[in-house]
Amino acid sequence: MALELRNEQREAIRQHSARDYPSECCGVLLGEADGDMKQLTEVVPLPNLRHDPTRAQELLPLDDPGRETEKNRFLIDPLEQLRVEKDARARGLDVVGYYHSHPDHPARPSNYDREHAWLRYSYVIISVERGSPKDLTSWVLAEDRSAFAPEQIERAD
Ligand SMILES: [Zn+2]
Repeated sequence: MALELRNEQREAIRQHSARDYPSECCGVLLGEADGDMKQLTEVVPLPNLRHDPTRAQELLPLDDPGRETEKNRFLIDPLEQLRVEKDARARGLDVVGYYHSHPDHPARPSNYDREHAWLRYSYVIISVERGSPKDLTSWVLAEDRSAFAPEQIERAD
Protein backbone atom coordinates (compact mmCIF):
# COMPACT_ATOMS: atom_id res chain seq x y z
CA MET A 1 0.00 0.00 0.00
CA ALA A 2 1.19 3.49 -0.76
CA LEU A 3 -0.25 6.96 -0.59
CA GLU A 4 0.67 9.50 -3.21
CA LEU A 5 0.84 12.99 -1.82
CA ARG A 6 1.52 16.22 -3.68
CA ASN A 7 3.53 19.02 -2.09
CA GLU A 8 0.57 21.39 -1.87
CA GLN A 9 -1.45 18.78 0.05
CA ARG A 10 1.40 18.13 2.44
CA GLU A 11 1.59 21.89 2.92
CA ALA A 12 -2.18 22.15 3.56
CA ILE A 13 -1.92 19.53 6.34
CA ARG A 14 1.15 21.22 7.84
CA GLN A 15 -0.52 24.61 7.91
CA HIS A 16 -3.70 23.27 9.47
CA SER A 17 -1.70 21.50 12.18
CA ALA A 18 0.19 24.70 13.05
CA ARG A 19 -2.98 26.81 12.99
CA ASP A 20 -4.80 24.56 15.47
CA TYR A 21 -1.82 23.98 17.79
CA PRO A 22 -1.92 23.19 20.73
CA SER A 23 -5.15 21.39 19.81
CA GLU A 24 -5.30 18.42 17.49
CA CYS A 25 -6.46 19.29 13.99
CA CYS A 26 -8.32 16.83 11.78
CA GLY A 27 -9.69 16.42 8.30
CA VAL A 28 -10.63 14.13 5.45
CA LEU A 29 -8.44 13.02 2.55
CA LEU A 30 -10.12 12.68 -0.83
CA GLY A 31 -8.76 10.98 -3.89
CA GLU A 32 -8.80 7.85 -5.96
CA ALA A 33 -7.84 4.36 -4.88
CA ASP A 34 -6.36 2.14 -7.58
CA GLY A 35 -5.31 -1.27 -6.33
CA ASP A 36 -2.56 -0.78 -3.77
CA MET A 37 -2.06 2.86 -4.67
CA LYS A 38 -4.06 5.75 -3.30
CA GLN A 39 -3.78 9.06 -5.01
CA LEU A 40 -4.63 11.97 -2.81
CA THR A 41 -6.21 14.86 -4.65
CA GLU A 42 -7.82 16.97 -1.95
CA VAL A 43 -7.35 17.81 1.72
CA VAL A 44 -10.54 18.86 3.52
CA PRO A 45 -9.83 20.49 6.91
CA LEU A 46 -12.65 20.04 9.43
CA PRO A 47 -13.21 21.40 12.92
CA ASN A 48 -12.24 19.21 15.85
CA LEU A 49 -15.54 18.58 17.60
CA ARG A 50 -13.72 18.00 20.88
CA HIS A 51 -13.73 21.80 21.13
CA ASP A 52 -17.41 21.37 22.01
CA PRO A 53 -17.06 18.86 24.87
CA THR A 54 -20.79 18.56 25.60
CA ARG A 55 -21.74 17.64 22.04
CA ALA A 56 -18.63 15.51 21.52
CA GLN A 57 -19.24 13.59 24.70
CA GLU A 58 -22.80 12.78 23.51
CA LEU A 59 -21.55 11.46 20.18
CA LEU A 60 -18.52 9.51 21.32
CA PRO A 61 -18.02 9.48 25.09
CA LEU A 62 -14.48 9.56 26.43
CA ASP A 63 -13.46 7.41 29.39
CA ASP A 64 -11.71 10.28 31.10
CA PRO A 65 -13.03 13.63 29.83
CA GLY A 66 -10.89 15.45 32.42
CA ARG A 67 -7.65 14.17 30.90
CA GLU A 68 -8.80 13.66 27.32
CA THR A 69 -9.42 16.98 25.58
CA GLU A 70 -9.07 18.59 22.15
CA LYS A 71 -5.32 18.65 22.88
CA ASN A 72 -5.02 14.87 22.63
CA ARG A 73 -8.26 13.71 21.01
CA PHE A 74 -10.13 14.63 17.87
CA LEU A 75 -13.61 13.93 16.62
CA ILE A 76 -15.14 14.67 13.25
CA ASP A 77 -18.79 15.68 13.28
CA PRO A 78 -20.69 12.81 11.60
CA LEU A 79 -22.88 15.32 9.76
CA GLU A 80 -19.81 17.08 8.35
CA GLN A 81 -18.42 13.71 7.39
CA LEU A 82 -21.60 12.80 5.47
CA ARG A 83 -21.58 16.16 3.72
CA VAL A 84 -17.95 15.74 2.63
CA GLU A 85 -18.56 12.14 1.46
CA LYS A 86 -21.60 13.12 -0.60
CA ASP A 87 -19.82 16.05 -2.17
CA ALA A 88 -16.81 13.83 -2.98
CA ARG A 89 -18.94 11.12 -4.60
CA ALA A 90 -20.75 13.70 -6.71
CA ARG A 91 -17.34 14.66 -8.12
CA GLY A 92 -16.16 11.07 -8.67
CA LEU A 93 -13.82 11.07 -5.67
CA ASP A 94 -13.56 8.74 -2.68
CA VAL A 95 -12.66 9.25 0.93
CA VAL A 96 -9.24 7.57 0.99
CA GLY A 97 -8.30 8.50 4.52
CA TYR A 98 -8.18 10.89 7.44
CA TYR A 99 -5.52 13.06 8.97
CA HIS A 100 -4.94 14.51 12.41
CA SER A 101 -2.11 16.09 14.35
CA HIS A 102 -0.22 15.06 17.47
CA PRO A 103 0.71 18.25 19.33
CA ASP A 104 4.00 17.63 21.15
CA HIS A 105 3.76 13.90 20.53
CA PRO A 106 5.41 11.66 17.92
CA ALA A 107 3.64 10.96 14.62
CA ARG A 108 2.66 7.45 15.65
CA PRO A 109 -0.91 6.21 16.19
CA SER A 110 -2.09 5.89 19.78
CA ASN A 111 -4.12 2.96 21.10
CA TYR A 112 -7.11 5.28 21.00
CA ASP A 113 -6.43 5.96 17.31
CA ARG A 114 -6.32 2.23 16.60
CA GLU A 115 -9.51 1.48 18.50
CA HIS A 116 -11.39 4.12 16.51
CA ALA A 117 -9.96 3.37 13.06
CA TRP A 118 -11.61 1.63 10.14
CA LEU A 119 -10.05 -0.82 7.71
CA ARG A 120 -8.57 0.24 4.36
CA TYR A 121 -8.32 3.97 5.05
CA SER A 122 -5.03 5.83 5.27
CA TYR A 123 -4.46 7.53 8.60
CA VAL A 124 -2.06 10.40 8.19
CA ILE A 125 -0.54 11.76 11.39
CA ILE A 126 1.56 14.88 11.67
CA SER A 127 3.56 15.74 14.76
CA VAL A 128 3.70 19.38 15.87
CA GLU A 129 6.48 20.39 18.24
CA ARG A 130 5.96 23.68 20.04
CA GLY A 131 3.84 24.93 17.16
CA SER A 132 6.07 23.75 14.31
CA PRO A 133 4.89 20.91 12.05
CA LYS A 134 7.45 18.07 11.96
CA ASP A 135 7.04 14.46 10.78
CA LEU A 136 4.22 13.33 8.55
CA THR A 137 3.45 9.61 8.51
CA SER A 138 0.66 7.40 7.16
CA TRP A 139 -0.79 4.21 8.63
CA VAL A 140 -3.18 1.44 7.64
CA LEU A 141 -4.98 -0.81 10.10
CA ALA A 142 -4.18 -4.55 9.94
CA GLU A 143 -7.12 -6.80 8.95
CA ASP A 144 -7.37 -8.20 12.49
CA ARG A 145 -7.29 -4.64 13.89
CA SER A 146 -4.42 -5.58 16.22
CA ALA A 147 -2.01 -2.96 14.93
CA PHE A 148 -1.32 -0.21 12.44
CA ALA A 149 1.21 -0.82 9.67
CA PRO A 150 3.18 2.11 8.29
CA GLU A 151 2.11 3.10 4.80
CA GLN A 152 4.61 4.34 2.27
CA ILE A 153 4.18 7.95 1.19
CA GLU A 154 5.12 8.76 -2.38
CA ARG A 155 5.85 12.34 -3.22
CA ALA A 156 4.37 13.77 -6.35
CA ASP A 157 4.61 17.24 -7.83
ZN1 LIG B 1 -3.82 10.36 17.31
